Amino acid sequence: MPDPGPRLPPRIAHFDLDTFFVAVERARDASLRGRPVLVGRAGPRGVVAAASYESRKFGCRSAMPMTQALRLCPQAIVVAPDFTAYRTVSARFHEMLRELSPVVESVGIDEAYVDLTGIGEPTGGAYAAAAALRARVHADLDVAVSVCIAGSRTTAKVGSDRAKPDGLIEVPVGDDATFLAPFAIRELPMVGPKAAETLGRMGVRTIGQLAALDERWLVQQFGSAGPVLSARARGLDPTPVNGNGRVARSISREVTFLEDVTDEAELRRVLARHAERVGTDLRDSGKRARTVTLKLRWDDFTTLTRSHTLERPVQSTAAIAEAGRALFDATIAAEGMRPVRLIGLGVTNIVEDALQLDFFDAATTTMTGTTTPAGVLRDEELDRTIDGLRARFGSGVVKRGL
Ligand SMILES: [Mg+2]
Repeated sequence: MPDPGPRLPPRIAHFDLDTFFVAVERARDASLRGRPVLVGRAGPRGVVAAASYESRKFGCRSAMPMTQALRLCPQAIVVAPDFTAYRTVSARFHEMLRELSPVVESVGIDEAYVDLTGIGEPTGGAYAAAAALRARVHADLDVAVSVCIAGSRTTAKVGSDRAKPDGLIEVPVGDDATFLAPFAIRELPMVGPKAAETLGRMGVRTIGQLAALDERWLVQQFGSAGPVLSARARGLDPTPVNGNGRVARSISREVTFLEDVTDEAELRRVLARHAERVGTDLRDSGKRARTVTLKLRWDDFTTLTRSHTLERPVQSTAAIAEAGRALFDATIAAEGMRPVRLIGLGVTNIVEDALQLDFFDAATTTMTGTTTPAGVLRDEELDRTIDGLRARFGSGVVKRGL
């Protein structure tokens, strides 16, 4: 084996286009520059899709009703959104990122994580490479992109906001915790309003104060998310940049039987196995999903699908299995039991597992009842344990009683 040389410290960048929709509109209509611009539909039902910095000074924000935004800033120019144009510019932006590094994870139309470890060596490193990319985006697309390069995704995400507008920050290797310390806890992507309130009651306002808290107290408050929160506050986040380039739209498993099956218990067992595999895939890819879909094909080849969308995105095998079971029961009750040729279970509405602590602040409602937050955490802890055992000893090692 060739000597891989010394291991380079990770350099993770978060690229975020500044007021993206507004920037695209200004690139084709220079008269909009320097003036308050609201992208969105006019009229009583219109909503602000993007607000320029000039209009934000008056309190305008995206997702605000257009009428309210115009009351705050009557002189604003309203531009109807052109999503085709935004998608075209976004595609070229992501293309440029993929020319910069093979490991690019798009997290939206206007932002992406890029692994810049070893990029730009031996000449200016990650900083020079990112600066060159920013210049290219300016020159070719006529929009601005703010960037932070750091040791982890968490720090890079927090930092790119500080780099706005139109800036580039590099947090030196090993300085993530020091960089994050003065910022408000709400700047951490995983701290939602309720978690911030819980922490605020303890007098915790800054990320530095959070990093200094006793981990045992965090576990009492937030369960298994506590240690993760503590680590993130110190800028430690082992989540790699997922370089496959796209987020799967659905994850599913199905099986076609050699002979049609009429035994309900057998079908339930197969469904439970599907749930297990779908759940494992979700957790492996760091995702959650909200919609669970059951697919059944009868012996006459007619196929039906039934879906249920949950209150909150889930990733536990138990939650997926429960939804699948309920769909199965409802289908059999409505259609009667017939010989089954194929049975499948899948999830859609897939989102990043942002580890929003507020997922656990309220009870999670499922089709057949209510699971306590503690129950959700227990399910997820059990999944992690089983996933870990499987990874070490192979998939046959554990079976759960579903
Ligand atoms: Mg943006």
